[in-house]
Amino acid sequence: MSRPIGIIRRVSGYLVIADGMAGSRIGNLAEVGEPRIIGEIIRLFEGKAAIQCYEDTTGLKVGEPVYDAGRSIEIELGPGWIGTIRDGLGRSEAEMLSVAGDFVRRGLKLSILSRGRKWSFAPKVKKGEQVVEGDVLGSVPELAVEHRILVPVGVQGTVTEIYEGEFTVAEPIAHLETKEGKGIELTMMQTWPIRRARPFKEKLRPAEPLITGQRIIETFFPVAKGGAAGIPGGFGTGKTVLLQQIAKWADADIVIYIGCGERGNEMADVINNFPKLSDPKTGKKLIERTIVIANVSNMPVSAREASIYVGITLAEYFRDQGYDVALMADSTSRWAEALRDISGRLGEMPVEHGYPAYIADRTAEFYERAGRVLTLGREPRTGSVTIIGAVSPPGGDFSEPITQLTLRYIDTFWALDFELAARRHFPAINWLRSYSRQLDMLAGWWSQYEKDWLELRRKAVTLLEDASKIEEVASIIGEKALPDAQRLILLVSWMIREGFLMQHAFHEVDTYCDPAKQVKLLKIMLDLYDHASKLVAQEVPLDEIRAQPHIAKIIRLKEEEALKIDELRAQMVEELGQLAQKYGATLEARAW
Ligand code: ADP
Repeated sequence: MSRPIGIIRRVSGYLVIADGMAGSRIGNLAEVGEPRIIGEIIRLFEGKAAIQCYEDTTGLKVGEPVYDAGRSIEIELGPGWIGTIRDGLGRSEAEMLSVAGDFVRRGLKLSILSRGRKWSFAPKVKKGEQVVEGDVLGSVPELAVEHRILVPVGVQGTVTEIYEGEFTVAEPIAHLETKEGKGIELTMMQTWPIRRARPFKEKLRPAEPLITGQRIIETFFPVAKGGAAGIPGGFGTGKTVLLQQIAKWADADIVIYIGCGERGNEMADVINNFPKLSDPKTGKKLIERTIVIANVSNMPVSAREASIYVGITLAEYFRDQGYDVALMADSTSRWAEALRDISGRLGEMPVEHGYPAYIADRTAEFYERAGRVLTLGREPRTGSVTIIGAVSPPGGDFSEPITQLTLRYIDTFWALDFELAARRHFPAINWLRSYSRQLDMLAGWWSQYEKDWLELRRKAVTLLEDASKIEEVASIIGEKALPDAQRLILLVSWMIREGFLMQHAFHEVDTYCDPAKQVKLLKIMLDLYDHASKLVAQEVPLDEIRAQPHIAKIIRLKEEEALKIDELRAQMVEELGQLAQKYGATLEARAW
């Protein structure tokens, strides 16, 4: 039980300073004031503690008691998370409202995992077996997920009892005996301190892309399973649609969405929309393999921090079960702003734009929790956490500190662009400013579709880059005044933009493009470029090439379900062959 050890000396927003806190520890959970608001001890000085409260502090008075719970902020891990929407303290919104009415009562202590609900547990180990931390004791079907119950970290022993059937998370499902002869009772639930990364056997090099079916992501700026991607997005740049597309199509077993929205209505959108999305993988609802963490409106900004840590801890927990987890945090800038706010209230020396110096460490620690790992256990599994962190640069200015800081720790950057969005080029990812540092490690995976994948991609990128330079010149002297070789680059880059980079999220076929199709689409465009270059070099007029019927067909290929790519290639060669004949040229080119 917690004991009163301190008293409130000062309340500044959600920061409380309490006296009489000698003996407390940084990171400990505190219950503050008469309503026992949940807080975390973040600084200790001269017997005082600075406590960051995660609930509304209105009405707290000087002199009220403060209790140190004697443990750090932990969450309960076990069946019951999947398919739910919870706040930054892990409380289910639906449950809170049913208990507390329309206004969520502060200090409300709810068990995160329901104590009444029964789950069907099927054991995977036998009596007499030796088990170690990370071993799968058994599993529980939970919506679209097979929830694996693991031997907790730090526990090992011989199984003396293992049960099968319906249990609550608080009832024993197994008993172990340690080497020293001590008995341990295991349930389906365990706790974990949210600020501590969960352990694993070995960090592995990511080797596979997170498949999202979004062409500009996979082919141009892929993120590996276990990698980290950053996505800045001003309002209206299509960030929400893009994140939803990724959530929907990513070949991740579990999706975790952390909403640290600034505007309440942004969050309301997610909460209303997410449960409605259907899951193309299972034909069920997407929410059946999703967890949404979103703060209720009467929680202070500091609760964003709790949301981030709760979300990443859950991601690791499912990774440890051998799953690929995609975690989206929208937006990490709002979390950074909360840190700036608290630091300002503590009177700390800011470094840049008012942000405290430790913001770099926090950001690094967060992104370092991404990764592909070999898990604990006698038969280790591989699992991964891929982080997609949204940032909100004010005015779309990427030079601001949080975007710059994020760039240091991520592998892939999807630069959402106002201008592209205004032109209704979606996804509005700027291909000149985005990058991926994981191309080389993913080339092996792509070789199943194209052994020269890196070269294919490089050629397309070079064409787009060259086109952007040529466009600058064209804007001065006019497109018609350019040599045909340059106009061809403009033509093909336009085809790549229209026929490849642009992807309609709401088009039945175009909404998802599998990797094999991505390769085929890009190949035919580059084939065309190779063939047409030869013709242009032999003075075949570009305008005649452009007028060939196959050009428009190539652009619309993306919308075709059954690709007639060979037919179209034959048509292309035929049409270009006729042009070659007409101008006495020869048509020989490398075919991709
Ligand atoms: P943000 O979250 O950045 O404010 P949204 O994601 O809500 O912006 O996008 C704004 C609008 O842009 C959407 O309502 C939709 O009409 C359009 N849009 C965004 N992405 C796409 C896409 N991939 N395909 C088609 N339309 C899109």
